[in-house]
Amino acid sequence: MEDPDVIVVGAGAAGIIAAWRAALKGAKVVILEKTTRVGTKILISGGGKCNITHDGPLEEVLRAFRPNEARFIRPACYRFQNHQIVEMLTSRGLEVYTRPDGRIFPVGQTAKDVVRILTSYLEEVGVEIRFESPAIGLISNNGSVTGVRYLDSTQTERELRAPAVILSVGGSSYPGTGTTGDGWNWANEVGHTVVKIRAALAPMYLSTDPELLAEQSGIALRDCLLKARFAGKEIARWTGDLLFTHHGVSGPTVLGISRIVAETLPGGPVTLEIDLAPNRSYETLSAEILAAVTVHPKRFIASIVEEFVPRSLVVSILDAAEIAHDCVGMRLEKKARNRLITVLKGWSLGPVRAVPLEKGEVVSGGIALDEVDPQTMKSKCVGGLYLCGEVLDIAGPVGGYNLQAAFATGYVAGETAAQSTFNKS
Ligand SMILES: Cc1cc2nc3c(=O)[nH]c(=O)nc-3n(C[C@H](O)[C@H](O)[C@H](O)COP(=O)(O)OP(=O)(O)OC[C@H]3O[C@@H](n4cnc5c(N)ncnc54)[C@H](O)[C@@H]3O)c2cc1C
Repeated sequence: MEDPDVIVVGAGAAGIIAAWRAALKGAKVVILEKTTRVGTKILISGGGKCNITHDGPLEEVLRAFRPNEARFIRPACYRFQNHQIVEMLTSRGLEVYTRPDGRIFPVGQTAKDVVRILTSYLEEVGVEIRFESPAIGLISNNGSVTGVRYLDSTQTERELRAPAVILSVGGSSYPGTGTTGDGWNWANEVGHTVVKIRAALAPMYLSTDPELLAEQSGIALRDCLLKARFAGKEIARWTGDLLFTHHGVSGPTVLGISRIVAETLPGGPVTLEIDLAPNRSYETLSAEILAAVTVHPKRFIASIVEEFVPRSLVVSILDAAEIAHDCVGMRLEKKARNRLITVLKGWSLGPVRAVPLEKGEVVSGGIALDEVDPQTMKSKCVGGLYLCGEVLDIAGPVGGYNLQAAFATGYVAGETAAQSTFNKS
């Protein structure tokens, strides 16, 4: 086969759309993919259901990102909008539904259908995919990337040359899926800065006694408010569900604040606390509990606590408030009542031990955004190189935002890489 016009490294969300768009524009495209399949992370996204993108006006979607990230992806998101990826999929038979919170999913609840349809787009435009062909480095010459070194399926080192190379190898979370952060060293070698890689959308490990963690593991809290504190000051908060795990905590609230915690942790201890009654003020809760113990003086305090947490956590709350497990309403002194309210409004989970990077849905950090042209996804450091997806320093929250960013930046990278080789519009 003659050399391609565009090489795409990595067949994830960004690489698929980049390759499709480049080929649609007339470029001969080869994808080098490390694993045996396309869209491995899409397949595990949203717990296998795939939260494809986020509904709503683009400016609202962009507001979910940090300001510098939003500024960077804005042009790409306008070129390839949230409804466009949905139309690509629904026009080929995928039914989707939008949750009240704006998250868009396939009706059939399966990411496999999303990947199957995206693959059909690649086939249609004649993109060649070389599976089990990990790239091992970029080839550069006189300030331009001119190709990629890779291992073929027999582990033989090969070179593939092209005037445009799109780097879409993703981040380094879930390394078992093929994303082991390979792109950052190569980008660094050709002059790019790589912003420190940290966990984002990740669970957190706590310093709590392992025996207690094992006991609590599997317990879920609904609609609580999780807060993180550093040096006593609140640094992040998120409302939603929380799950206790063998190592600490997970769930939407934890993922939601994990990036800030991971960024802060190197500076000193970060502690977590949960407001178990986020819809009530301290005063309202205080009045409610006073009324409850006054009206039912023989009622166990444990049964009042049970209104706020699952039964299996009641003892932990009573212990935290230093209240005897068999205490009844008429024995609850004012000081103990105040302690109980304090715990319900801010139950301390203690210090975070770690935010495991490999367990995150994405990583924060990556190729510095000011070194990439947001209109073209072209490297400002070296010719012939285009960057898209999670390899860049972008990490949106849970909600379909990360796939949207990957699709949109991929679209622009593919289009402009093809244009650069043909100068087509
Ligand atoms: C468990 C989980 C659930 C998620 N759920 C959602 C969700 O529901 N909605 C959402 O918006 N986001 C979700 N995300 C995040 C989303 O999957 C990523 O942000 C997105 O896939 C990033 O796209 P990408 O193309 O940049 O990278 P990836 O999709 O990670 O693709 C990178 C590709 O490059 C390949 N590759 C890596 N190194 C090499 C190499 N050296 N040579 C060749 N190929 C290589 C990899 O095998 C992979 O195929 C989830 C992530 C995880 C881990």
